[in-house]
Amino acid sequence: MQDVFGYPQFRGQQGAIVERVSAGGDALVLMPTGGGKSLCYQVPAIARHAAGQGVTIVVSPLIALMQDQVGALQELGVAAAFLNSTLDWAEAQEVEHRLLRADLTLLYAAPERVLTPRFLDLLDKLHARGKLALFAIDEAHCVSQWGHDFRPEYRQLTLLHERYAGVPRVALTATADALTRSDIVERLQLQAAEVFISSFDRPNIRYTIVDKQRDPTRQLLRFIQDEHEGDTGIVYALSRKRVEEVAQALCESGLDAMPYHAGLPQATRAANLARFLRDDGVIMVATIAFGMGIDKPDVRFVAHVDLPKNIEAYYQETGRAGRDGEPAHAWMAYGLQDVVNQRRMIDTSEAGDDFKQVLTGKLDALLALAEATDCRRVRLLAYFGEKYQGPPRSPASPGPLPLSWAPPEGAGLARGGPSLRPVLPVRHCGNCDNCLNPPQTWDATEVARKLLSTIYRLRQASGFAFGAGHVMDVLRGRETDKVKQYGHERLSTFGLEARLGEPQLRQVLRQLIAMGAVHVDASAYNTLNLADAARAILRGEQALALRPLESGRSERKRERSA
Ligand code: ADP
Ligand code: ZN
Repeated sequence: MQDVFGYPQFRGQQGAIVERVSAGGDALVLMPTGGGKSLCYQVPAIARHAAGQGVTIVVSPLIALMQDQVGALQELGVAAAFLNSTLDWAEAQEVEHRLLRADLTLLYAAPERVLTPRFLDLLDKLHARGKLALFAIDEAHCVSQWGHDFRPEYRQLTLLHERYAGVPRVALTATADALTRSDIVERLQLQAAEVFISSFDRPNIRYTIVDKQRDPTRQLLRFIQDEHEGDTGIVYALSRKRVEEVAQALCESGLDAMPYHAGLPQATRAANLARFLRDDGVIMVATIAFGMGIDKPDVRFVAHVDLPKNIEAYYQETGRAGRDGEPAHAWMAYGLQDVVNQRRMIDTSEAGDDFKQVLTGKLDALLALAEATDCRRVRLLAYFGEKYQGPPRSPASPGPLPLSWAPPEGAGLARGGPSLRPVLPVRHCGNCDNCLNPPQTWDATEVARKLLSTIYRLRQASGFAFGAGHVMDVLRGRETDKVKQYGHERLSTFGLEARLGEPQLRQVLRQLIAMGAVHVDASAYNTLNLADAARAILRGEQALALRPLESGRSERKRERSA
C-alpha cells in the first residue's frame, strides 16, 4: 500500500481486510461510500500477484466505474485492464492474451461478461494453472432483490464459487441493512466469509428534513440560495417530468442546473454528466438513474424534492455529498403526497404480497425517519444496526473514519424484516436539524381521532370512501358542492375542527398514513379507509406528537440561525 498507493496507513478496517483476503480467506466488506473499499481488494491483488498466485478478477457493474479504476491503477504502474463492450475485437483479444499469461494483476469485467462461456473458458485455463488469485465482487448488494440496484446476473455469480472452489472471494458494498446483508451471504454463498462492518456514519453530512410546502420548487430554490449559492449539488426528483420542471425553474432563477434522466438522448446525458464532473458549481437535477459510481468529491448538497423509496436509497443518494470530508448538506422536503405516491407505487406494483410487505416495511422505516423529532443520525444508523457512538473529535475533518464497531449480539445476519429498533437517545450528533433546533411537538391526538372518525362516518353514511380533500372539507365545516350533494353537513363530525387549517390537517393525515392508521386505496381514486393502527388511536391508547408546522419564512430563519 505504501509503495504503490503512497498512503502512510490503512484506514479503519482496511488492514484487517487486506490481511484476511491476501491470506486466501473470504470476506464480506460493508463500508460506506468513500470509505476506501477499492484498496481492500487492490492491495491483496497486488500481493497475491507478486507471490505468483495470478490474476484477480473484479466483477463490477458499471463500465464508467471500471474505466476510472483501471485508469487510476495504470497510472500507479499496476497491470490492470478491463473487458467490456467499449473495446474492439483486437483490443479485447490483447487483453485476453495478457490474462492467459497471468500478466495482469487485476482484470475488471461486468457480471454478464464474466458469465459468458468464452470468459469462463479463460478462467478454466487460468485456474488449471493455479493462476486465479482472487474474485472481488463489487457493489455486491446488486445480488439482492430487496436492494435498489437489483441485477439478476449477480445471482449467477455463485457459479464462481462452485466452479473455482479454492479461489478466495471478497464481496463489497456500501449499502446493506440486515436483510440485504443476509441476502448477499446466502445468494453468493459467502457463509464462510468473515464479515467486516465499518461505521456508516458520515459525520460531515448535515441532515435536514422539512415539511413540503405548496411550492416545493421554490422551497428548494430558497434552500440553495440561502445556504449553497454557487455550490455543486444534486437534486433528486421522482419523475422525468419533475426533473425537467425543477431544472428549468432553477435555471430561470439564474442557477447553473441541468436535467438527467433515462428519457434524455444518450448524448445529452453523457454531456451533462461530463459537465457535472468537470465544472464547479453545477447542479444536477436527476432521477435515480443518476447515481451509482458518481464520484465527485466536492458535492456540497444533495436535495430530495420527492421521497426516496427507502432508507437505503436515501443513504446512498445523500452519501454522494461531501465525499471530500468537508461539510455537506442532505436536505429533503417531504409531504402528504409523497406518502400517498409511494404507497400507491407499492400497491399497484406487480409484486407478490410478501414482497409488497417488505417494501411497505422499508417505506415505513423511512417515514419514521422523516417524521422523527429526535436525532436523524441516530435513527439512520440504527436502521443499519449501528449504535451511534457520538461525533468524532473534529466533525468536519477528513482522515480516518471513526472506530469500527461490532454488530450487536444476534443482530448480524439474522433474517428479519427491516425495522427501526427502539433507540435510546444517549447521544446526539449536533449536526442534524433536530439536534440543532429541537422541535417543539404538539399533541395531535385529538385531531387525529377527529380525522379518523370523519373517515369512518363518511363511509358509513354513503357506503363508500372519500379522498383526503373531501375528508378535510367535512372536518373543517366547509359547505362545498360535494358536501351538499351528499348531505355531509349533517354528519356529527362536520365542522368539528374548524380551528386548524388544511396544512395542519394534512400533516396529521400524513402521519396517520405513515403509521398505518389510514390506508389510501390507489385502485379507487386514492380514497381513504381506516386501517389496523387506527384502533389504538381511537381507543385513546396511543398519542400522536407532531412537529409544529412552520411557515416558509420562519423555517428559513430557523435554518439560517442554525
Ligand atoms: P469507496 O469505493 O469505498 O467509495 P474508494 O475506494 O473510492 O471508496 O476510496 C475513497 C477515497 O479514499 C479515494 O480517494 C481513496 O484514494 C482514498 N483512500 C482509501 N484508502 C485510503 C487510505 N488508507 N489512506 C488515504 N486515503 C485513502
Ligand atoms: Zn442529530
